[in-house]
Amino acid sequence: MNFRLRVEVLSNCVGCGICWTVCPKGVLAGRLRSKAYVLNESLCSGCFSCQNNCPYSAIRVTPIQY
Ligand code: SF4
Ligand code: SF4
Repeated sequence: MNFRLRVEVLSNCVGCGICWTVCPKGVLAGRLRSKAYVLNESLCSGCFSCQNNCPYSAIRVTPIQY
């Protein structure tokens, strides 16, 4: 069984910048006050720092089986 990680930024993102600051892999990027975006999902290590630190619960990391 193989897994990859899906990283999704939800519509209630306010662009606070926390997620792209805490991500150790450069998966996320953005501009302050604009919705964050996923730059390179394949680099995600599944550390969940983005999800755990978002004050708005606006980012979700999900293992996908394939
Ligand atoms: S931490 Fe949450 S609200 Fe802030 S930019 Fe990232 S997804 Fe958006
Ligand atoms: S789970 Fe970790 S590596 Fe993946 S996007 Fe979030 S902070 Fe970056």
